[in-house]
Formats: sequence, C-alpha cells, structure tokens
Amino acid sequence: MSDCLFCKIIAGDIPSSKVYEDDLCFAFNDIAPQAPTHFLVIPKAHIGSVSEVNGDNSAVVAHIFEVIAKIAKEQGMDSYRVVSNIGEQAGQSVFHLHFHVLSGRDMTWPPG
Ligand code: 5GP
Ligand code: ZN
Repeated sequence: MSDCLFCKIIAGDIPSSKVYEDDLCFAFNDIAPQAPTHFLVIPKAHIGSVSEVNGDNSAVVAHIFEVIAKIAKEQGMDSYRVVSNIGEQAGQSVFHLHFHVLSGRDMTWPPG
C-alpha cells in the first residue's frame, strides 16, 4: 500500500533497524522502545490489523508467531510480551498489522 509507513519500511524507502527478514515477514526495532528489547514483526503483505485476518491470509500470522519464538530463543529471551493493538482506542497508530515484542523489564498486568 503506497501510503503505508510500514509498507515503506519493508520496501526500504524508510530506513529501519532490521532484526529478521524472510519471504513473508519483516522484524525491526521500534523507533520509540518501551522496553530494553522492543521490536515489531509485520507481514510483508499489507493487512490493516488483526481485524482483517481471515481464512485467506491467516497463515502468515502463524508464521509470524513461529518467527517470534525463534528470535526469542536466539536472543535468550525467556520472558516477553507480544501485543497487537487493534483500533485507535486500543492504541493502534500504524494501520499495518504488527506484533510488538517487548522484553527486558518487569511488566504490569492488566495493561493500562
Ligand atoms: P501501534 O501504536 O500502532 O500499536 O504501534 C506502532 C509502533 O510503530 C509504535 O510503537 C511506534 O513507536 C512505531 N513506529 C512508528 N513509526 C516508526 C518508524 O518510522 N520506524 C520504526 N522503527 N518504528 C516506528
Ligand atoms: Zn502496509
């Protein structure tokens, strides 16, 4: 999608600090980290949010969770949080599906 920030990051039109990449997904460090480790994992195909996941595109979501588990193992992360905000009230500010992966500090529950 031409006016999507994360599509531009995938295309390399906007620089990012890459953590992982394969044919289906891209992972990069968040520009405003909320924990010592904070990266985002996104599908290369544009999906607006979890609310647009369906039977035709959900395989990439399973793949992303495999990638998250793999990166976490490689980085020695034994405790971490995976978050996806859906809609403005929940805190979504970029409307390309992304999973925040946060680690390295104590976290509260429930979230604010
Ligand atoms: P959301 O608020 O939609 O759940 O998450 C969007 C995330 O994207 C935020 O944590 C924000 O810091 C991050 N972000 C926004 N613009 C950029 C950018 O240009 N580069 C990177 N690496 N992260 C960004
Ligand atoms: Zn996009």
